Amino acid sequence: MPRIHESGTSYDSLGCKDRRAQLFWSYLTDEVLCLTRSEDKPRWGQPPWRIDFEAEARPLPEEIDVAIIGGGFTGLAVAAWLRRLAPEKTVAVLEAQRLGAGASGRSGGLALGDTAAGDLPGLGDVLGGFTDILRELEVDCDQRLPGVWEVGHSNASPDSPIEWRDSGALRIVAEVPGGTVDPGKLVSGLARAAHRHGAIIAEHSPVREITSNDPVELAVPGRVLRARQVLFATNAQSLELSDLVGWAQPKFTLAVATRPLREDELEALGLRDRKAFYTVDLPYLWGCVLPDHKVVWGSGLVHVADWRELDSIDVSAGRPAELLASLERRVRGLHPVLRDVKFCHRWGGPILIAESWQPVFARHPRCPQALILGAYSGHGVALSVYLARWAAEALLGQRELPDWGKLQR
Ligand SMILES: Cc1cc2nc3c(=O)[nH]c(=O)nc-3n(C[C@H](O)[C@H](O)[C@H](O)COP(=O)(O)OP(=O)(O)OC[C@H]3O[C@@H](n4cnc5c(N)ncnc54)[C@H](O)[C@@H]3O)c2cc1C
Repeated sequence: MPRIHESGTSYDSLGCKDRRAQLFWSYLTDEVLCLTRSEDKPRWGQPPWRIDFEAEARPLPEEIDVAIIGGGFTGLAVAAWLRRLAPEKTVAVLEAQRLGAGASGRSGGLALGDTAAGDLPGLGDVLGGFTDILRELEVDCDQRLPGVWEVGHSNASPDSPIEWRDSGALRIVAEVPGGTVDPGKLVSGLARAAHRHGAIIAEHSPVREITSNDPVELAVPGRVLRARQVLFATNAQSLELSDLVGWAQPKFTLAVATRPLREDELEALGLRDRKAFYTVDLPYLWGCVLPDHKVVWGSGLVHVADWRELDSIDVSAGRPAELLASLERRVRGLHPVLRDVKFCHRWGGPILIAESWQPVFARHPRCPQALILGAYSGHGVALSVYLARWAAEALLGQRELPDWGKLQR
């Protein structure tokens, strides 16, 4: 079992002499130390995306204004927007592995409005805000928003171009706002924007322990970094640090991509318009057509009791491999065009599901100088970037946090 140290058990490892520190907590475990060594999680498979941003190694200063923990869409977008609003603030993104190593570099790339729980009071226009932020930050991620099809087993639209067999007939039932991005380009573009605006980006910098002093002390390998404010953008991992153990469920979800399909094959599938799709009833399925005509299909959840189990998931073995094989069988059965189709990518990644499927966007219960943003329940592509702008404003004291983001304790 992993060892969780609470309350001062390794104060000295932090170099922290102040025994009056209000709080100390850590998650030093053998599994985590191993996690930080495993490059890019090859056992989680290879998605079709490429992250081409290389963070230049720079020494971290002793003290900074804002430390952002996690280098996915959320952390990178907050860093970029914060520096854009307040170039005088020192901001660092601390990423345990490589940028995009969590969900962001492995996402499906469907950009959808609202949240997994639908619209929420005061949420605003997620897709419009997402588009504005990408434009302002000059992020080119092949964003296309032609609409997304909802598909289902009943109430089909009479002129549905999609006619698939999947536990009955699967057809289009509605169209909603949205579209797709290339997640690799989104990670790279946000990282470039953060870097261009002067944020420090430190890969291979897992935060292992935190002391809620003022400033907050963060233990990164070999040293302690002090930060006046902190943002937790750690999603399904490090749940002790973000204080989400027991309050949000980490899961692992899966996807595959076919070989590039010919134009006539896409036409036969009803995908000539390259619209992304997801089912509104069960069994769940989502997908999209890539610019090179590969088709991505996603479904399936691996349940874990503890987030550390995510690290040992291997998509070529056990339950994840069974779920991927079943997804491939299912895709081949959808339409004669797909009967013998080859799959060239199989992968998965973590998601975090909070209560009522609402994102967590709250002050840290045990560290008043810290915010937590995440738990998008598999619906975080546009939402993470959109809420990142809000989080940057909140860190600067320019905006209140939304009531719906509070931890329901
Ligand atoms: C297979 C898959 C398909 C998906 N498809 C879609 C989709 O089509 N549409 C959609 O809207 N959403 C989708 N999602 C969800 C979406 O990708 C996520 O909601 C989004 O990427 C979350 O971004 P994030 O930055 O909050 O978290 P992440 O990208 O997971 O980033 C968290 C980062 O924190 C780092 N970290 C953790 N602990 C520490 C620590 N102690 N110190 C330093 N760093 C740490 C991790 O290494 C990681 O890089 C999908 C997810 C998966 C896995």
